[in-house]
Amino acid sequence: MDKPDHKTDVLIIGGGWAGLSAAIELVANGKSIFLIESAKQLGGRARTVKVKQTTVDNGTHIMIGAYTETLRLIQKVYPFASYSTEKDLLKRQCLSLHYKQKLKASITLPCIPLPAPFNIIGSFLFARGLSLKDKLCVLVLGTKIKLKLIKIPFDLGLQDFFVQQKQTESVIQSVWEPLCLAIMNTPIKHASTEIFLQVLKESFFKSRQASDLIFFKKSLSEILPIPAEKYITQHNGKILPEQKALSITKENNFYSVTTASFQLQAKHIVLATPPPAAAKLLTGLNTQQILDPVIKNLNQFSYQTICTVYLQYPETIHCERSMQGFIGTTSQWMFNKTSLTNQPGLVSIIISSDGPHLEMDNPSLIKTVTEELAQFYPHWPEPLDAFVIREKRATFTASININRIRPTNKTVINNIWLAGDYTNTQYPATLEGAVRSGLQCAQQILAE
Ligand SMILES: Cc1cc2nc3c(=O)[nH]c(=O)nc-3n(C[C@H](O)[C@H](O)[C@H](O)COP(=O)(O)OP(=O)(O)OC[C@H]3O[C@@H](n4cnc5c(N)ncnc54)[C@H](O)[C@@H]3O)c2cc1C
Repeated sequence: MDKPDHKTDVLIIGGGWAGLSAAIELVANGKSIFLIESAKQLGGRARTVKVKQTTVDNGTHIMIGAYTETLRLIQKVYPFASYSTEKDLLKRQCLSLHYKQKLKASITLPCIPLPAPFNIIGSFLFARGLSLKDKLCVLVLGTKIKLKLIKIPFDLGLQDFFVQQKQTESVIQSVWEPLCLAIMNTPIKHASTEIFLQVLKESFFKSRQASDLIFFKKSLSEILPIPAEKYITQHNGKILPEQKALSITKENNFYSVTTASFQLQAKHIVLATPPPAAAKLLTGLNTQQILDPVIKNLNQFSYQTICTVYLQYPETIHCERSMQGFIGTTSQWMFNKTSLTNQPGLVSIIISSDGPHLEMDNPSLIKTVTEELAQFYPHWPEPLDAFVIREKRATFTASININRIRPTNKTVINNIWLAGDYTNTQYPATLEGAVRSGLQCAQQILAE
């Protein structure tokens, strides 16, 4: 390769939501940046794809009101896209959850528009489908968490925590386990209690708005990656898609990143890739073994799958809610795309983490899910079309003690930074974790 042909302040490797968040903060503060992304499009694990002529997200994403930094970022970039108001992008509603169960009564936690924590207390008090004993044991545990009466000296599995806290079997199965899967995409037995409690505190006990459900009314790419690209380029940042970082070397005060077509030089490098790619790139820089501990930790993360089954029904089907939960079935959540993204008759079924569905091929999974929906919605006709998107490494496993190995943004090598949902944000793998990580990383670079 010839001499380096590009020089910049900061080079960001990876154009997921963490990389974009870092890039936006840096260009907004006058830094010159390059962002390189190995894929054709930006967005990483939160992007839009076209399957069989239908434009869908690689998995239906949802936010809550506590995602304050993601909301702030969306507000910052949306004027750079062609939407007139934030209302065109997001649908916000007071927390209410509805679960249908096979051969059992449905469970409904209604929206109670009171300040926190009375909204949550009210929601459980007026819940339908839960026994008085179930309601009481949830409320007692909620009160203990709110009053900080629960101290966990060491992290433990969420299932064990709920048993210790005398939660009934039915409440674990119908309330806590679906919440654990929705929040952490990790089986309840192995899930970190520390992370779960942190999310509950941030979302359920801070304010009523923090627990709101926020749905996307546009495709994921239209929500952030497309307007973010416009924002970054209009602030003199450069984005290079289809450029995989192959190696990083150090020359004097600059780092040099090699891709198949370029050699780019920068003072700071932000590795905004998932842990395995970051570990690989750091290995080349680890001539004196000082990165050994961080590389070892990066290689210890394990991952969980999310399967999304898209079913296209005739436009006439009626579905009363934007989001519907199911208990005791392979299908876990259904999102109604008619009311959300204006795609009539389209629904997406989300199946998080482990389960027998991982052993099924796509036609069997589609058949299973379609039969389950036919039981709950007997008037619906057969779907006209269906397809499955399996994201095998959708999120890192939020397992017991995972917080101990999550790295800081700053590494032990000067001006080499890490960003991504897996860094030590205290959040599980979420858009908010990714956005916060990118933002904090950029703020530390600016502070230097
Ligand atoms: C199906 C699914 C459903 C989800 N649902 C939700 C949800 O409802 N709510 C929620 O908050 N979160 C959800 N998540 C999680 C959320 O999408 C992620 O936490 C977030 O997108 C992670 O962003 P990131 O920037 O940290 O990583 P990534 O999105 O993985 O970005 C890393 C980027 O780096 C690029 N890259 C890797 N190696 C290189 C290299 N060598 N050179 C250049 N580029 C490279 C990759 O191509 C990628 O674009 C879901 C995820 C999935 C997959």
